[in-house]
Formats: sequence, C-alpha cells, structure tokens
Amino acid sequence: MNFELTSDQQAFVQTARDFAEKELAPNAASWDAEHHFPVDVIRRAAHLGFCGIYADPDCGGLGLSRLDAALIFEQLSQGCTTTAAYITIHNMCTWMVTRFGNAEQKAQFGDKLTSGEWLASYCLTEPGAGSDAAALKTRAERNGDAYVLNGSKMFISGAGATEILVVMARTTDTSEKGGGAKGISTFIVPANTPGVSFGKNEEKMGWNAQPTRAIIFENARIPASFRIGAEGQGFSFAMKGLDGGRLNIASCSLGTAQAALRAAHRYLQERKQFGKSLAEFQALQFRLADMATELQAARLMVYHAASLLDRGDSDATLHCAMAKRFATDACFSVCNEALQLHGGYGYLRDFPLERMVRDVRVHQILEGTNEIMRLIAARKLLEKSDL
Ligand SMILES: Cc1cc2nc3c(=O)[nH]c(=O)nc-3n(C[C@H](O)[C@H](O)[C@H](O)COP(=O)(O)OP(=O)(O)OC[C@H]3O[C@@H](n4cnc5c(N)ncnc54)[C@H](O)[C@@H]3O)c2cc1C
Repeated sequence: MNFELTSDQQAFVQTARDFAEKELAPNAASWDAEHHFPVDVIRRAAHLGFCGIYADPDCGGLGLSRLDAALIFEQLSQGCTTTAAYITIHNMCTWMVTRFGNAEQKAQFGDKLTSGEWLASYCLTEPGAGSDAAALKTRAERNGDAYVLNGSKMFISGAGATEILVVMARTTDTSEKGGGAKGISTFIVPANTPGVSFGKNEEKMGWNAQPTRAIIFENARIPASFRIGAEGQGFSFAMKGLDGGRLNIASCSLGTAQAALRAAHRYLQERKQFGKSLAEFQALQFRLADMATELQAARLMVYHAASLLDRGDSDATLHCAMAKRFATDACFSVCNEALQLHGGYGYLRDFPLERMVRDVRVHQILEGTNEIMRLIAARKLLEKSDL
C-alpha cells in the first residue's frame, strides 16, 4: 500500500489544478447564474486529454487508470462542480465506445470523442424506468441493415448540446425469453438523426452549467453497424460504465467538499464575533476537524475502490457502490456545514457555498441513487458465504 503520488500523477494533478483555477473557478458562478454550458472550455480541457482520460491511446485517449481519473476529476471539480461532472459523463461514454466498440466504430468515433470535437450523452433513464433501469422500454427494431428507435429518455445530461448519444434500448421484448436486462443493447446514435428530438432544458436546483433534457425517438433510423457489441450485451456495458461513473461523480463531490472546507477554514480565521475570531471557539474547531475527517475517509474509499476497479477485482462493484454512497453523503454534509459556518453570508450568492450545496446534492441521486448503492452493496455482501 503506497499513499504517495507518482511523479506522473503529480504532474497531471497539477495540470488539472491549474486548469480548474484559471478556466473553471473564475466562471463557475456566472455559468450557474446564466445556465451556460461552457462547450468551448470543455474542448480546451480535451486539449489536455481530459475528454479521454481512461480511453485507449489508440483512439487518442490518455490510457490512464481509474485512480488517475479520480485524481483529475477531484481537481477539476474544485473549479466548477457542474462542468467537471459533465466531463466525467463524457469520459464514461467515450470509454464505453472505445472499450466495447469494434475497430470500425473506434475509427469512426474514438478520436472525435477523445478530442472533444464530439461531446456525448449517456442515455439510460426513462420516465418509467429510473432506479429500475432494466425495465426500460425504448425499442430498437431491426429493419434490414438498420435499427429503428422509438421511445423516450429522461434526465439526459448534456442533451441538446452533444453530438453523440450512447443509448440503451430494448432489442428483445420483456415478454420474450431473454427480456429484462438481457434484452437490452447499446447504440451510438448521432444526435442529428432524423426522428430524434429534445425536451426543454429542465429547471434544476443545481448543475445549472449543463443542460438536462428528455430525448424522444420517433422512428429514428440508425445503421445496424452503430450497435455496440452483440444484441443483449447493452445492460452489462451500461453497468460497467456506471461502476467507473460512480467513482467519477464521487470524485467531483470530493473536490467540491475540499473547496468548501478551504473556504470555511479561511472564514473561521477572518470572521470575528464576541471579540474573537470564530476559529477560537472550540465548538467550531471541532466542526472543522469533523469535516476534514469525513472528507479524508471519503477520499480514501474512492481511491481504494478505483484501485480495485483498475485491478479488475471481483469486489470492485461492491466497493464502487459503497464509496459512491459514503463520499456523496459525506461531501454533501461537508459543503452544508461550510455554508453554516459562514452564517448568513453562506446563504448569499456572493459566496460559492450555496452553489456548492446545490451542485453536490444531485450526486446523491444520479448514477444510481444512494438507496440503490445500499441495495447493490447489500446484494454483493450477501452473495458471500462469509465476510
Ligand atoms: C440532474 C440529473 C442528471 C441526470 N443525468 C442522467 C444522464 O445523463 N443519463 C441518465 O441515464 N440518467 C440521468 N439521470 C437520472 C438519474 O440517474 C435518475 O434520476 C436516478 O437513477 C433515479 O431514478 P428516478 O429519478 O426515476 O427515481 P426513482 O427510481 O423513481 O426513485 C425514487 C426514490 O425511491 C428510491 N427507490 C427506488 N427503488 C428503490 C428500492 N428498490 N429500494 C429502496 N429505494 C428505492 C430511490 O432511491 C429514490 O429515493 C439524471 C438525473 C438528474 C436529476
């Protein structure tokens, strides 16, 4: 067990930190207020390799590990939680295409995705299928050398502004043998395909610097060659993507909580009440100590789960679910405590705390709610005959 960063890791962590400080942090508040999705800045992040962090170098990716990706996302999210979180989703999609796609698909889509020329959305959730994603109803019917898609997706991050949709759709009816999760396939759908349309940009509590929209498929015809893998493999690709996706989102919670902790640490020393700085009150010192402790525990869980995923450990899914649950809960609590330590000023938009609280709240809900993380963890634990 070695807790030191390698010199390579130190270098890309520094690059990500510089990018977050220069390109993200100064704009995060205005992007949030104006609901602006900073596509140009995301493409500048791609110039540093951050749109294909763990994608195959043959497709223009950096070929780094999940632990490396967690370190990078932790830095980016210190600048802007929402932009970093979208970059994580793009990385998840890019990995799915470059990891499970065939040579032709990698050649056609790989470089465009890793270079950020094309941005991607991950399309699993439907109006009637959220936590129970395997109940999805969007259908992809084979028609000669094409598939015809009909159905709708809900809550799709980046939708309306991205070029590529990675869509999970049903190729086998649920009533047929092999329905449910086994009847789902994954497709690369260009967003400009006739028959694909988008709902309104949802009004959200946070994550305002990226759009979230429904997607409607009405006889949207795509070449059969855009199916990734075999029919029926799609749900397993979607879940493999999410194992890493959950750590990515958890890493964005770590970075945001670190920024909130830093702000609280500074504020306690600057603000005076009752003739003393707030930092002199032991009750508040203990709060700071607890925040730092919870954050460090969350960080170690995320790094550990990432290293298990890198090793292909059979317990990786268990640890990814536990780390996502713990880190997103703990980091929301750290951000909320940091707001409280700022008193009334924490509630004002002049300070970043209220935005941080709004932005990390959704990390407890998406990429599998934290109730579903408990369900996965419990299922994996009970599969074992002994602990
Ligand atoms: C801002 C935002 C962005 C998103 N981006 C994407 C995206 O890019 N792509 C995508 O595919 N999806 C995306 N999602 C969807 C997200 O993954 C779902 O919202 C989430 O999986 C929960 O589904 P649901 O909203 O339908 O809630 P439901 O599944 O209806 O759950 C409602 C409540 O019941 C609980 N619950 C459900 N089943 C159980 C159970 N068996 N045991 C205990 N508790 C249970 C849940 O935890 C939750 O508290 C996004 C969501 C949001 C809010």
